[in-house]
Amino acid sequence: MEIYTLLQQPTPFLIFSMLMGAIIGSFLTMLVHRLPRIMEREWHSECQQLLTPETTQEITQEAIEESLAFPGSYCPHCNHPLRWIDNLPILGFLLNRGRCHHCDTAIHWRYLLLELMSVAVATSTALLLGPGLQAVAVMLFSWVLLALLFIDLEHQLLPDSLTYLLLWSGLLFNQLQLFTTPSSALWGAVAGYLSLWSVFHIYRLLTGKIGMGRGDFKLFAALGAWCGWAVLPQILLIASFSGILIALPLLLLKQRPSSSPILTTAIPFGPFLAIGGWITVTWGDLLNPWILGLAFSSGQG
Ligand SMILES: [Zn+2]
Repeated sequence: MEIYTLLQQPTPFLIFSMLMGAIIGSFLTMLVHRLPRIMEREWHSECQQLLTPETTQEITQEAIEESLAFPGSYCPHCNHPLRWIDNLPILGFLLNRGRCHHCDTAIHWRYLLLELMSVAVATSTALLLGPGLQAVAVMLFSWVLLALLFIDLEHQLLPDSLTYLLLWSGLLFNQLQLFTTPSSALWGAVAGYLSLWSVFHIYRLLTGKIGMGRGDFKLFAALGAWCGWAVLPQILLIASFSGILIALPLLLLKQRPSSSPILTTAIPFGPFLAIGGWITVTWGDLLNPWILGLAFSSGQG
């Protein structure tokens, strides 16, 4: 009980949030590395079961070899288990100067970036919202979005386990009206899913190409469940704007294969939806008057 009262003070809450950001960030690096590999193995084993049912037994055995909890952290190059010191968030990377202590292979900088971003979102949330359930909810929201962002950038994949987690948690938190009313959250989820689903099918009918992944519908539904239906256009606006800013230079640099069934050189939309959703949930109250002002002044002029 004493710890609980202590955490209601702004400074202890800020320090606690930064520590949690570092610990969760370390967990997230493991998650973004393992979850896509576990999913790929499961698809592989399902295909094998369909093709050759008699091998089911050994494949299932192989599929459970690695899970999120087992084995402990190891170097993906030499498979050598990490020491406790290497597992320290951020410090582990810096102490080893970004290399495996056993085989000296460089560890990708994106793992350090993910840990730093995890601390950054926790710190900014604690500073912006102060102690309380709303800040804790925003941190959980941000951490799941970070995992989705990194997995989608690397694998063009938004795992159902993470998008559904976000969807259900958004609906539950808004039962307490943390960000919007329960009914606005419900309609946000429905409108989020249906809007991108329609865009997907209209685009496919018109061009015969696939413009986005199905995971994008589920992510947008989850963002609707967190923010409510009314701000969905705002999220889409920020996502598209940041998408153009970041993707356009990349597309101009690369040659675009015209025969590809997937739109242009595959740049996933999920990360930009995640950015739009995060900005809306954390900075939405500050942004709204600005966006309204913009609409009002353009209406007058
Ligand atoms: Zn190694």
